[in-house]
Amino acid sequence: MTTINWTEEVNKRKEQFIKDTQAFLRIKSVMDEENATPEAPLGKGVQEALQFLLKKGEKDGYKVKDVEHLAGHIEMGEGEDILGILCHVDVVPEGDGWSSDPFGAEIRDGKIYARGALDDKGPTMAAYYAMNIVKELGLPLSKRVRMIIGTDEESDWRCVDTYFEKEEMPTLGFAPDADFPIIFAEKGIWDYYINQRPDVKNAEQKGIIVDEFTSGRRFNMVPDYAKVVLAVGDEGREVENQFAAFLEKYQVKGNSALAGASLALEIEGVSAHGMEPKNGKNAGLYMAHFLNSLSLTPHAAAFFSFVDQYLWEDSRGNAFGLAHHDESTGDVTLNVGRLSYSPEQGGQIGINQRYPVTYEQKAAEEQLLSILDENSFELKTDSHSGPHHVDKDSFLVKTLSSIYESQMGEKAELLAIGGGTYARSLEAGVAFGPLFPGREDIAHQKDEYMYIEDLLKATAMYAEAIYRLAK
Ligand SMILES: [Zn+2]
Repeated sequence: MTTINWTEEVNKRKEQFIKDTQAFLRIKSVMDEENATPEAPLGKGVQEALQFLLKKGEKDGYKVKDVEHLAGHIEMGEGEDILGILCHVDVVPEGDGWSSDPFGAEIRDGKIYARGALDDKGPTMAAYYAMNIVKELGLPLSKRVRMIIGTDEESDWRCVDTYFEKEEMPTLGFAPDADFPIIFAEKGIWDYYINQRPDVKNAEQKGIIVDEFTSGRRFNMVPDYAKVVLAVGDEGREVENQFAAFLEKYQVKGNSALAGASLALEIEGVSAHGMEPKNGKNAGLYMAHFLNSLSLTPHAAAFFSFVDQYLWEDSRGNAFGLAHHDESTGDVTLNVGRLSYSPEQGGQIGINQRYPVTYEQKAAEEQLLSILDENSFELKTDSHSGPHHVDKDSFLVKTLSSIYESQMGEKAELLAIGGGTYARSLEAGVAFGPLFPGREDIAHQKDEYMYIEDLLKATAMYAEAIYRLAK
């Protein structure tokens, strides 16, 4: 058969594509659970965006389905197998500081500016147009092609959870919700708490009392702030001086405020994404390291010496015996996203552990439990999502690589990442775009944009991908 010029097919539809993308971006699809109704369980805006696509799909002659107003799909073709394209219509809140209306979809210098332009409504429309191209060309397919639309990717993934409880899992698929060329492997992500058992007070306790210590709110962020209030008796000045020397030694910012026998200390660290703790300065761990140098009451001393022994300057889990590394997905990483202590609650450590695809997570958990047990600490898993990996030599990865290479004229370097993409909710799925190598990642930031040129290039690749994966 004649070869199809995918770029040309996209260009023929360019004007309408831009108009539809703008209309779609103008829907303020931020989750709004406070105003939820049975017809709009995550709020009006998100629902409107889902219905916008489903209506469009119906009008264009696809089979469409609304799954509990949380997700939906648009399908074409016949066949046993399904090629899935996983997208989402919800966006994170717009935030402040925009140069133009975040839901205006204004075009300046070849870029379309809107919350969701990159993540993920721009690429969703690109994938939709890609389906249209394949459909309008009347190309023969042996699989069904199904765009699956989620509405809760930015929060709890209730969309895909509900969807896949009810609907078939695609045989293979891709998610246009991360980076080009292809993300084929993602680390496992395991969030857990290490809890100190309650204090058993018997004798009069000697030492400085840690009244309240807190740092961090989220597992997946390096905390940039820690605060502690100490009952220091008459040692206030001395501890303050030690603290000043500590800040000097480690070159971190902090403050102290002494009021009678109560001393408040603060440390300012540097925030970073939890997938690479080395990119930040963990305020909580600095504070714990300092507290471990003081003469604390026994229960507090046990907690801070534990934190210090197992987690200080050790983001790879070496002290716990949890370290591992593999060629494709790298190191185990441990981010201490939350730390707290009070005499009433005891100590709590919240860890975001990421691990490579060849990791024996069950064995690691056993290893961790044995250390915790010796130290009278308990483990409580908060959430766990295993590693995600599609074989480099699979039909899916090989086909997408060849499309990327032929259309872009450059090698498709396969990516393995520590983060989790939407593709992991597919059994055999990879992330395929939309952010091109070298482009600034402005997802979730003010003035989010997407180059129209990039959206068009992505559309051409998605169209060829749909055809070659489903023919
Ligand atoms: Zn996204």
